[in-house]
Amino acid sequence: MTGYFETLDRIKPPTMRPAVQMVGDAAPGVGGPLGGWDQVQQEQAALVIDARDRTVVTVPIDESGLHEEAGLDQNNFITRLRGQLVGAEEANRNGQFWATGDLNFGIGSVAHGPLNWLHQGRHIIGCLTEAQMRTAQQADGKQRPPHIEAESMIWSWIYPNETRIIREAAATSGLYYSMECISREVQCVGPNGCNRKMAYLDAYLRNERACEHVRAKAAVRRLINPVFQGAAVIVPPIAPGWADAHADVVQKASHNESIMRFTAGDELLAAQILAFAASPRS
Ligand SMILES: [Zn+2]
Repeated sequence: MTGYFETLDRIKPPTMRPAVQMVGDAAPGVGGPLGGWDQVQQEQAALVIDARDRTVVTVPIDESGLHEEAGLDQNNFITRLRGQLVGAEEANRNGQFWATGDLNFGIGSVAHGPLNWLHQGRHIIGCLTEAQMRTAQQADGKQRPPHIEAESMIWSWIYPNETRIIREAAATSGLYYSMECISREVQCVGPNGCNRKMAYLDAYLRNERACEHVRAKAAVRRLINPVFQGAAVIVPPIAPGWADAHADVVQKASHNESIMRFTAGDELLAAQILAFAASPRS
């Protein structure tokens, strides 16, 4: 395999054809779902990458082409975060509280939720990808109450400015998550609480069906069996509702096995193909 390639099909209109797989093993003369099939067949092997909004078809050609070296670095277009999303057994600054059982109930709704910018609900910059219950040890060896740790990803190639601010905030420990959730019921708890339960909307609106403590914001509100609806990325000067909601940028090694198979382990060529698939549209 030589280190040159040609792109037959850069942009895939989403409705035009289904995603296609490696086509190199198809028998001669057999039609396939790929436009330009004959060309591909002549080359005996092609790599088709379904790269989000486009399909990139890579085939070997002769050695007359020119190419530039590129790095195999997924982190150039995806930024991954990991942080503490929400903690149990301690009220946050907004007077919200979850028992451990509430987080156990709600954790299933965290992954795949939207990740927005500064609680701007329509400014979605990525997605929550994973959530796990964690307990952390304090410096003095005492066990802290459990919390939900969440991983997320940001589409950096769509949101380069937000990504830059996020990376700067992470470098100065100023990057936070801020979760968004609702629940069916809210309970009035804490030192001033009366333990009454009321509908979420009544507590939220602080109307006459809410107890006086919730109406006056004098008590802690326990969100019973919550559904998490996503999270915001928070950067300075905005502070999170939960002081421990610290998040960090995570580096994850990328490895695309089908590309490595196609290039027979040629890492430079694999890097070129991936970089091309990830390059900005012209
Ligand atoms: Zn009350």
